[in-house]
Amino acid sequence: MKERLKALTRELMLIPGLSGHEGRVRRYLKGALDDLGLMSRTDRLGNLIATIPGAEDAPSVMLFAHMDQLGLIVRKIEASGLIRAERLGGVPEKALPAHEVLLCVGEGRDVRGLIANKSHHATAQDEKYRVLPYPELFIDTGLGSAADVIAAGINVGTPIVYAPNFVELGGDRIAGTSIDDRAACAVMLEVARALDEVDTHPTVHLVFSVLEEFNLRGAVTAAQALNPDVAIQLDLILATDTPDMAARGDVRLGGGPAMSLYSFHGRGTLNGVIPHPAMVKLFEDAAQDAGLPLQRSAHVGALTDLSYVQLVGDGVAAIDIGFPMRYSHSALESCDVGDLVGLVTLCVEAIRRIDANFSLDRDDYP
Ligand SMILES: [Zn+2]
Repeated sequence: MKERLKALTRELMLIPGLSGHEGRVRRYLKGALDDLGLMSRTDRLGNLIATIPGAEDAPSVMLFAHMDQLGLIVRKIEASGLIRAERLGGVPEKALPAHEVLLCVGEGRDVRGLIANKSHHATAQDEKYRVLPYPELFIDTGLGSAADVIAAGINVGTPIVYAPNFVELGGDRIAGTSIDDRAACAVMLEVARALDEVDTHPTVHLVFSVLEEFNLRGAVTAAQALNPDVAIQLDLILATDTPDMAARGDVRLGGGPAMSLYSFHGRGTLNGVIPHPAMVKLFEDAAQDAGLPLQRSAHVGALTDLSYVQLVGDGVAAIDIGFPMRYSHSALESCDVGDLVGLVTLCVEAIRRIDANFSLDRDDYP
């Protein structure tokens, strides 16, 4: 499974799909679901949904990961042909200059460009340690006038992403663009494949969601339509095993899958997830029985769309499960394929345990 999962992750990382422009990723995933014999549908927002029917007396499950990625949007084309961009999502400004980007005009017509970094020879001492806010940055496509840029199909509103990239590092480590959250999309396909071999399981709705990096609410329309009892969200868990992250926890790359016990974001969004105790116990028991490590994370500062999905209907029993990842939102994120394999096994083990006796009653838990 490891090699297949790595290849699948690689393919998904190389497909551009800025928030609101997920079409290419969705078409790939739809094809992959077709190959697994799973019918799928796309809702009006763009979420791709496939249902694997199961035991009707068991709570239903929505398993989801987001297809979209963060990036930039063309804001203005200068007369010189240089491009100013607006940000879309949590773009790390200090990691933008000197990166190659892709302006997504259309399949086969995309235009390569770079985010300019001022010539070092002309950089004054006080500029050396200053991070430029994104409005001060510009993108150079090599096209020398606004007319040439427009003739290439670029206009205000054109999506821009990091040039898709996949790097094999030592051991099982990989790096590149949009491991967040294409690695989880690949994991979901493997979970779907594995569930086919499981005798009894609940009804599982696979949702590949849109707009997570934009407004965190794309998955909500899918949840409203499906009305699941349980929601399991698959995304990165912040790895803390580098010197700059050491005080934040003990989540390490290669240490196995992880679950979030607490997430919160107060700036504007004011949301977060404290997982349902039934879900915490479910994943702890599943990990123990499968002989898998299960790392634990509790952080302020990051959110997923699960924050909104948990609020649908009478409330959804929710948990964030994921793979440790380093360097989030940069053009070179990194994870360990072994953790992705562990995440597949963990998800299948947990889901198969959800039967008619699985209680979501709060009072059944301490
Ligand atoms: Zn994500």
